[in-house]
Amino acid sequence: MKTAVHFEKVSRHFGDVKAVDSVDLTIGEGEFFAMLGPSGSGKTTCLRLIAGFDQPTFGDVSIFGESTNGIPPYRRNVNTVFQDYALFPHLSVADNVAYGLMIRKVAKQERRRVADEALEQVQLAGYGARKPSQLSGGQRQRVALARALVNKPRVLLLDEPLGALDLKLREEMQEELKNLQRTLGITFVFVTHDQGEALSMADRVAVFNEGRIMQVGTPQDVYHRPNSEFVANFVGSSNVLPSELVNELTGKSVPASLRPEAVKIVDEGGFEAEIVDISFLGAATRLSLKIDGMRLHALVDGTKAALEFRQKVRVDWDAEDLHLMYDNNG
Ligand code: ATP
Repeated sequence: MKTAVHFEKVSRHFGDVKAVDSVDLTIGEGEFFAMLGPSGSGKTTCLRLIAGFDQPTFGDVSIFGESTNGIPPYRRNVNTVFQDYALFPHLSVADNVAYGLMIRKVAKQERRRVADEALEQVQLAGYGARKPSQLSGGQRQRVALARALVNKPRVLLLDEPLGALDLKLREEMQEELKNLQRTLGITFVFVTHDQGEALSMADRVAVFNEGRIMQVGTPQDVYHRPNSEFVANFVGSSNVLPSELVNELTGKSVPASLRPEAVKIVDEGGFEAEIVDISFLGAATRLSLKIDGMRLHALVDGTKAALEFRQKVRVDWDAEDLHLMYDNNG
């Protein structure tokens, strides 16, 4: 796979704040790549460094093998879709979409043709004459996408593009974005603090914390095989078993992650536990369990036998569901 974006020991400091701290990263051409992490972990700063809105304090960002050092944003073959869409309210949808082409002095007829094509790609054919205020949030989001697509970028940067939408629309747009990316084959770099969004859309995910990348991998990697306590907790709020307990169970003195859905209620064997919190989530029931002073979260089938607060139960899990975290830098 050809490399689309490469970070070589990239840092961005603001005074004492290391917004991005010595990041090495390679994003392949045609990948749908998610930057996932809590607020303030450096994701947006990384995106701005790719776009050219900001410069690294140290290190180098290259795009398709060329250093971006000194290259202004408009010469980078990269476009950004912002969370707030940044549409011009006084321009029609079609003129908003064609704006980048007008700046590049593309002839009017050609502008119209390309804008119509882009509106069709985002399923807004026929909406060109409207003003942004006459559209729903989801439609405005699509206009912002279309406006980026007319420039035929090789890399599309998306900064929490679904953040402003309600849950149902978000899920629809997740599917649509993914289909669009597949059809166009453009490299997408997507910033989000929503782990579900990252896992469901991305080919690979980089998990950020305090300006550093903790782990890069497929959604399955970061979910099932977290390399640190931080990743285990941030991606799917896993249980982390302390090394003493893991030592007793496996003979290896390292912490281990255990997914809530891997914890089972059993009739015999396993461990005795007390239900200290219980939440009904519809298809599943979420339990907080106390075992020997330790807390363990479990996600069990919501349709199964009634469970009650303070009830004593026995819990167990399959040995292979315990993921040992040798590389523990959390
Ligand atoms: P969010 O999800 O909240 O957008 P983020 O992971 O994208 O968070 P960044 O916006 O990259 O995080 O910010 C990383 C850190 O750098 C934060 O501590 C932030 O306050 C700081 N920071 C970002 N931009 C600046 C700036 N222009 N001046 C000073 N500090 C900044």
